[in-house]
Amino acid sequence: MIHKINHIGIAVSSLKDQIPFYRDVLKLTFLGEESVPDQKVRAAMFQCGEVKIELLEPTDADSPIAAFLEKRGPGIHHIAYETDSVERELDNLKAAGVRLIDTQPRNGAHGTKIAFVHPASSGRILTEICEPGGKEE
Ligand code: ZN
Repeated sequence: MIHKINHIGIAVSSLKDQIPFYRDVLKLTFLGEESVPDQKVRAAMFQCGEVKIELLEPTDADSPIAAFLEKRGPGIHHIAYETDSVERELDNLKAAGVRLIDTQPRNGAHGTKIAFVHPASSGRILTEICEPGGKEE
């Protein structure tokens, strides 16, 4: 079951340039930075109440984030809904005939399991389904 928004993903050209706004001006709690090799990005996470803000910087020219920046420029990249089982959500989405980018869960930041719904099936909003890993509460 989907029970809340886990995070909002924001595509940025430079983490170094954008982190100070979220950390020092908005004063969100900075949770740290990590590389997500699966998606060829570096991610910086901030906590804002129950929701996290995930800044995404491409680490490679063929990263999906590089393609997004090229096409649309910096901005909101995806919304991630939290579930207790990505597998179950995928079964549900498949049964509903929803077009998927990931038919199987893959590894996200912070030990999460994630899968993306194709924007063609979600009003052009890239939609992530995300299951927290053991490291998170
Ligand atoms: Zn995400």
